[in-house]
Amino acid sequence: MNLILLGPPGSGKGTQAKRIEQIYGAAQLATGDMLRAEIASGSALGQRVKGIMAAGGLVSDDIIIALIRGRIGGSAGADGFILDGFPRTVAQAEALDRMLAGNHAALDAVIELEVDEAALIDRLSGRFSCQNCGASYHQRTHPTRVEGVCDDCGSTELICRPDDRPEAVRTRFEVYHGQTAPILPFYRRQGILQSVDGMADIDEVTRQIRALLDRIHTAS
Ligand code: AMP
Repeated sequence: MNLILLGPPGSGKGTQAKRIEQIYGAAQLATGDMLRAEIASGSALGQRVKGIMAAGGLVSDDIIIALIRGRIGGSAGADGFILDGFPRTVAQAEALDRMLAGNHAALDAVIELEVDEAALIDRLSGRFSCQNCGASYHQRTHPTRVEGVCDDCGSTELICRPDDRPEAVRTRFEVYHGQTAPILPFYRRQGILQSVDGMADIDEVTRQIRALLDRIHTAS
């Protein structure tokens, strides 16, 4: 199953991608996580993208396309992939189509998480995650059971992303509207765009995505 999860910052793409990965075995490919790993490792690429990411801007298409190319090739033959945070521009979407065609693969669905922007800003401002295992939390809606300790792995390395600061959040929304939202008509024209209510609670969003994927699976 090859899937894209689309939606503005904070719409729950990462959370849902992890759940879909568990259920269907398709690999989550999160470009934001890959870039943060580059930064954490101190690599030259990490150094190049650090400032852009902290400010909420987009890393160049060339860098991102090169980053995703090897991963798509590697997972297309197995149980597929769930793209989370890619593509973010029409140029990236076009490059993805070319990569898939080259691998004799195709997208099964592009799922848009529809959300209310004011509520999203609220979500982003309380967000934190575990640096060790990637589990995500929210101060108000999904805190850890024990303060300061990850529920999943017990690590105390809980961090708030620099791009979840208010100015960066504003920039990320502008970037989403200006550069990422134009991808929606691109996939609508291909007849593979589906929407779910991203404002429903986390389990309900997963249920809606599963219902969609199971329908697609049965039809194919
Ligand atoms: P995310 O974790 O998906 O919210 O991504 C965090 C940041 O990484 C974004 O705000 C961008 O700076 C950068 N980034 C992630 N994916 C992409 C992409 N597909 N194209 C350009 N920049 C990206």
